Amino acid sequence: MTKSLSVLGATGSVGTSTLKVIAHSPERYEVNALVAGSNVDGLASACRQTGAKRAVIGDAGKYSELKSALAGTGIEVSAGREAVLEVASQKVDLLVSAMVGAAGLEPTVDAIKAGSSIALANKETMVCAGTIVCELAEKHDVRLLPMDSEHNAIFQVFEYDSAKAVDKVIVTASGGPFRTSSLEQMRAATPEMALRHPNWSMGRRITIDSASMVNKGLELIEAFHLFPITADQLDVVVHPQSIVHGMVRYCDGSLLAHMSLPDMCGPIAHCLAYPTRKTAPVAELDLGMIGRLDFEKPDLERFPALKLARDVMELGDAAGTIFNAADEVAVEAFLGRKIGFLQIPELLEDVLNRLHTQNMLDCPDQLDEILQLDQVARRVANEVIGKMAA
Ligand code: NDP
Repeated sequence: MTKSLSVLGATGSVGTSTLKVIAHSPERYEVNALVAGSNVDGLASACRQTGAKRAVIGDAGKYSELKSALAGTGIEVSAGREAVLEVASQKVDLLVSAMVGAAGLEPTVDAIKAGSSIALANKETMVCAGTIVCELAEKHDVRLLPMDSEHNAIFQVFEYDSAKAVDKVIVTASGGPFRTSSLEQMRAATPEMALRHPNWSMGRRITIDSASMVNKGLELIEAFHLFPITADQLDVVVHPQSIVHGMVRYCDGSLLAHMSLPDMCGPIAHCLAYPTRKTAPVAELDLGMIGRLDFEKPDLERFPALKLARDVMELGDAAGTIFNAADEVAVEAFLGRKIGFLQIPELLEDVLNRLHTQNMLDCPDQLDEILQLDQVARRVANEVIGKMAA
């Protein structure tokens, strides 16, 4: 039996790893649509490689270019935000949600409403709208499969039938490139230094977020929504080798850990094959070769975003939306050398405080309200950056 798939963010880091998993066993999948933002060449070649039925590019101005790149293939081409939402609304067996940023929220929601199972890499969906999204998934009887490596790991060792016996859910963090740096070194960090992740090859935003540990904060919020647990059951441990990705500790003292090499093809293959297990294009984990696994507590003084994310988690979806939007703006500003590395968490806290003072943290129950709040938070973040840089 083949599975029908659509991939949002097909040209990105998770997207290309997904294509690698598909190429490993093409007979298992039928690709309905591949979606990208503006990378015409990448999207066209991915569509040719997979035999996708539809190619959709978010940037409406790239329609003609994509049409010419796929001329003679019979692949249907469309462009623009509406086209992205329309293709996400086509029911498939599994939709891989791997666009970056809050831009991935609406199409993921549309896919849930269409009744497609979701392989969720786009953590912003849960950070901004976890409450709404989980309710929708339940209403439409849709399975949300965690594709983020840590959440996929936890999913694999979480005994749902014994959920009450779960004591802690532990998300691991590599610690990023500044794990052992001093605050002074971090203050002087350049984009090039922050983009040099020790273990993972990923998109630019998540790589910067890993360096600041904002990413781990986003992951805590994501885990809070994905698993039947309370906020105080969540913990983070720094594990520089990135071999153990997630753990669940039970009331009898057992700690179940999931291990694999740091390669997104593993969690992607797990989601694509779920509920079965199939061979995947991943190297064998040889613990004898690795030799040792280290663990340490995160340093909240040097990585204050982690503490802030816990407050955000307690506050709910509005705070998550603001935290994420401010961070998307902050990462761009840091990459554009408008703000320093340590100003990223400062900016997030500042934007949250400003919008808190304006009573904007009430939990929205409509997607539209979340999208509006996202825009407000971006505007405020840009204003604050203007003042910081001045
Ligand atoms: P990348 O930046 O590498 O890729 C982003 C993808 O999204 C690209 O295909 C891009 O298209 C597409 N895209 C961006 N904006 C739009 C838009 N407006 N409309 C349509 N497509 C768009 O990101 P990653 O693959 O690193 O991350 C994707 C998501 O997965 C993020 O939420 C991240 O947090 C999460 N994640 C990533 C992991 C990783 O290992 N990279 C691990 C776990 C989770 P184009 O190329 O044309 O710009």
